[in-house]
Amino acid sequence: MTNKALSGSEASPAAHLDHIRHSLAHLLAAAVLKEFPDAKLGIGPTIENGFYYDFLLPRAITPEDLKTLEKTMRGLVNKKLPFTGREVTLAEAKKLFARQPFKLDLINEFVGNSEKLTVYETGDVFLDLCRGGHVENTEGIPADGFKLDKIAGAYWRGDEKNQQLQRIYGLAFESKGKLKEYEMMVEEAKKRDHKILGPKLDLFTFSELVGPGLPLWTPKGTMVRNLLDSYVWELRKARGYERVDIPHITKKELYETSGHWDKFKDELFKIETREKHLYAMKPMNCPHHTQIYARKQWSYRELPQRYASTTKVYRDEQSGELAGITRVLSITQDDAHVFCRISQAKEEFLKIWDIVHEFYGSFGFELRVRVSLHDPAHPEKYLGDSEKWESAEKMLREIVAEKKADAFDGIGEAAFYGPKLDFMGKDALGREHQVATIQLDMNMPERFDLFCINEKGEQERIVMIHAAIMGSIERFLSVIIEHFAGAFPVWLAPVQAAIIPVSEKFSDYAAKTRATLATPGVRVELDEANESLGKRIRTAEMMKVPYILVVGEKEESNNSVNVRSRGGEEKEMPLGEFIKKIEKEIREKAF
Ligand SMILES: [Zn+2]
Ligand SMILES: [Zn+2]
Repeated sequence: MTNKALSGSEASPAAHLDHIRHSLAHLLAAAVLKEFPDAKLGIGPTIENGFYYDFLLPRAITPEDLKTLEKTMRGLVNKKLPFTGREVTLAEAKKLFARQPFKLDLINEFVGNSEKLTVYETGDVFLDLCRGGHVENTEGIPADGFKLDKIAGAYWRGDEKNQQLQRIYGLAFESKGKLKEYEMMVEEAKKRDHKILGPKLDLFTFSELVGPGLPLWTPKGTMVRNLLDSYVWELRKARGYERVDIPHITKKELYETSGHWDKFKDELFKIETREKHLYAMKPMNCPHHTQIYARKQWSYRELPQRYASTTKVYRDEQSGELAGITRVLSITQDDAHVFCRISQAKEEFLKIWDIVHEFYGSFGFELRVRVSLHDPAHPEKYLGDSEKWESAEKMLREIVAEKKADAFDGIGEAAFYGPKLDFMGKDALGREHQVATIQLDMNMPERFDLFCINEKGEQERIVMIHAAIMGSIERFLSVIIEHFAGAFPVWLAPVQAAIIPVSEKFSDYAAKTRATLATPGVRVELDEANESLGKRIRTAEMMKVPYILVVGEKEESNNSVNVRSRGGEEKEMPLGEFIKKIEKEIREKAF
């Protein structure tokens, strides 16, 4: 019996691609069974760029096996096999999968959840327990748009107490061209890996004595961090923010009041004082900031209070989770909190929105916004009554509508204390990163009893807005190192121009040029190393210095520089003209 409702036919392009990937997972299992008739099948879902399937096999799979399996799969695609589905009874399902223990495990679970059991057949070559979502016929699968990619170990159901299976990954796209495009992107991403580029560009380093997850920032790296932070601060200052500063440790009572002690107990670095008091390194700044607000009683006329501080927070992550500067133990946040009345929150959100757009626009990131809402099916996960949530979420929707933003809903993505706007940025390789977030918090002001005195002379509960622009500077840097492949825009480059004299004879002119450039604040380095001219130029190129200025006899007599820009252009230019050009690029944050 062919059940029309069970076959995946008319679908959107995204769903269609998912159907292709899902169908290929079936073909992979079919190919594995042909090679290993006793293979035990696990699960085979689709993933971001393809699919995988887990198997228990009599021996380890090799890269050669992948080639054979791929060939078998292609053969099946060309056979134009239909996918047909039907519902089966529990008894029938158990009989069909009698030799597949993992499938029996799933059958028992599905039946326990009173889900209907369906099986799908691919022609007459393969049958699997499955909920559906295939191409109608293997004809719909581009035979050259997929590839078996890699092998990994995986425990059944992700539980290390269970048997370890072999997971075969496949890449799959709508066409050969799209597959190639993806593979090239992965290659390019490898070249741009911040873990390699960062130390190569002398931005940060790690020390075994200090420990993993604790990056040390070199002069160049610190320069870049400070430039980024100053930029954020400039945008904030223009909108009425004030800087505050806080200690890196606190008594545990602060976090008991905020609720973090309960929620983040395992991630806190704890310190015992000589008097046996328990302190903690701060994992976030909000609780400290509430205590700056709480220092006095505020009239509604004095609100909003906007506090900003760029400071480190510390989280005790498991060492296996640490990665480059993406996941670290000491995280620098460009943090800010606005304390205001609920009636002022919208305007404050709009101001932060503008900062986010101006900041990310300067890096060429395309942004879209996730409106992160609470999940009405799970009210127990959130604090505060549903009325409060509805009005807060309505406000966020109004902001998004007013800004005519490219936005989508994220049901269940809200923080436990309030809804938020999460900005997603697309980098030069088309990868999307969550970059900035603006969060409305109705909970912490309650816990710390924060209020203002309103027009009627009554205490009015205020709200708090959390607004990090970069979020973690470390994570943001890892994103832009890869986005720019290390070639930062001129305003952000730690060294903006390298001066290279052709020979010792021109040392004086080189030094004079350096002084002239340094006067208006251009960051310039002079390379007089005892190396050939070619070698010194290559070194500067490798360091991705935006401008390499070669000076020799001609330049000295013309009071000029020979400018090599990163694009490979080479041109003699009067020194005054070059200064004008570079100053303009710095001012405009050109990229
Ligand atoms: Zn299926
Ligand atoms: Zn916060």
